[in-house]
Amino acid sequence: MLKVRKSLIILSILGLQLSCSENSESKSAEKIYYNGNIVQMTAEGAIVEAVAVSEGKIVACGTSEEMEAYRSDSTEMIDLDQNTMLPGFIDPHSHLTQGIFELTQANVSSPPVGNCMNIADVLEELKAYKEDNNIQDGEWILGYGYDNELLTEKRHPNRFELDSVFPNNPVVIGHVSLHMGVCNSAVLEKVGFDENTPDPEGGVIGRNEDGQLNGLLQENAAFAMMAIIPQITLEEKIDLLDDILGMYAENGYTTIQDGVSNEYDIEMLKAGQEQNKFYLDVVSLPDARGFDALLNDSTIEFGVYNNGLKFGGVKIIGDGSPQGKTAFFTHPYCSHGNCDDTSGFRGQPNISQENLNAIVKKAYENDIQVNMHCNGDAAIDMLIKAHEENKDFAIGELRTVIIHAQFINPEQLKKVAELNFTTSFFTNHAFFWGDAHLKNLGEERAFYLSPMASADELGINYTNHTDYLITPLDPMFVLWSSVNRVSRNGVVMGEDEKVTVYQGLKSITKNAAYQYFEEDSKGTIEVGKLADFVVLSDNPFDVDPMEIKNIKVIETIKEGVSVFKLK
Ligand SMILES: [Zn+2]
Repeated sequence: MLKVRKSLIILSILGLQLSCSENSESKSAEKIYYNGNIVQMTAEGAIVEAVAVSEGKIVACGTSEEMEAYRSDSTEMIDLDQNTMLPGFIDPHSHLTQGIFELTQANVSSPPVGNCMNIADVLEELKAYKEDNNIQDGEWILGYGYDNELLTEKRHPNRFELDSVFPNNPVVIGHVSLHMGVCNSAVLEKVGFDENTPDPEGGVIGRNEDGQLNGLLQENAAFAMMAIIPQITLEEKIDLLDDILGMYAENGYTTIQDGVSNEYDIEMLKAGQEQNKFYLDVVSLPDARGFDALLNDSTIEFGVYNNGLKFGGVKIIGDGSPQGKTAFFTHPYCSHGNCDDTSGFRGQPNISQENLNAIVKKAYENDIQVNMHCNGDAAIDMLIKAHEENKDFAIGELRTVIIHAQFINPEQLKKVAELNFTTSFFTNHAFFWGDAHLKNLGEERAFYLSPMASADELGINYTNHTDYLITPLDPMFVLWSSVNRVSRNGVVMGEDEKVTVYQGLKSITKNAAYQYFEEDSKGTIEVGKLADFVVLSDNPFDVDPMEIKNIKVIETIKEGVSVFKLK
């Protein structure tokens, strides 16, 4: 053990020298950040005191004294006051454009995100929203984030409850998973669903025992309903975009994602790009459901930044959410505590194998990265199958991303290590839905959720995300959940899969840069890379692991420019 540690220290010193001494010729830097605890993320333990920056890039790093060689009268000296500085956080998966919902809809989430403990609270929240926003009869009322598992009734609200309070407005409340929602009668009428409507493929129209519609729409039935919700104007969206970008900056993210962009989202992102809005790097993943149109659109170029916006790859939705029991599993969900019944409900895919194969083939032929939302292991099998069938069409390095890989099984994990896929995990589930997963999936599967330690051991490039607005946009909470894996009820969701602080940070810095093919310019603090930094209130390596979530971002720096500062 001692020997291993020693070689690790030597390695990290070597790494440190390599990454800081490339530029031996000293010249005046525009800015020098000094007197800090600068965690480079090049290797565990690689720490410097100071870093010199010019033209948005790192020109040197080392001790505060060494950086004097880069100082001139015009150099701005920034005292880090011994605070911890890291590479700017890279968001491997969230939903930038859906963040606009948060600003235009009622928050019907349960704590800690919102205030709803029961269905009456949900209705009260919607009523208050209607009043505060002076919403007239006939106008839509939208809410986001309810979670049936966290309401005291342990069920979804229904159309009758919504009708009783809002007989004259179309009302929709979105489930926290974004894969289902409940609407009232006015909306059912608008979308054209009645008792005689069959369930669409890959979707469920909820019904009571007597066959009456209850307002719950899942997966493709929910997506059909969402499609008729009136859009706010492009100008309104662009205004709100500033607020959303501000939230990402406040949380230390310097590269951010729009995790599924439909045609309206792309329209808004392009407008933001034209209006020079993107002071953070934005990676958009266009929805595969519009793939043909995208490939024929000459204004969309994949894989390169253009004024702050990059189309990073295509996004496929493979299945639903495990807490909503719409994720697609090889073995059924547990029923009334029985996890051994092999004939039970396994969830279902959102896409046929045939369609998936066609999209993967097109992506490979056009050298476009595949990003697929897969929560259950059966959905992951579909992706592996589509890859195997189409791998000969690939013309470049793939780095396929399994978004969530929440319930990947040990065999699949070995397979994706061979294939050099990235698993973009979601360890926040341990806290938010760990208790529900234990009940619905049993201990063996639940304790192996987002198996980050095993992925690290296999040499997989893993990242870790918030899936905002599914969980709060807070990278310190993400780190906390990967290091502690504690549920709301205090259960440790798999002791063996806890990771170290360094491993947890890798998943939101250097590994995320690799996921985006940006490891040459981002993810570590080294000479030649972008001066993207985040300064924290406390050192995550020093605090009690359970306190990590209380660490605050005190400054965010994008290419040498301060874009957020805590007041
Ligand atoms: Zn997502």
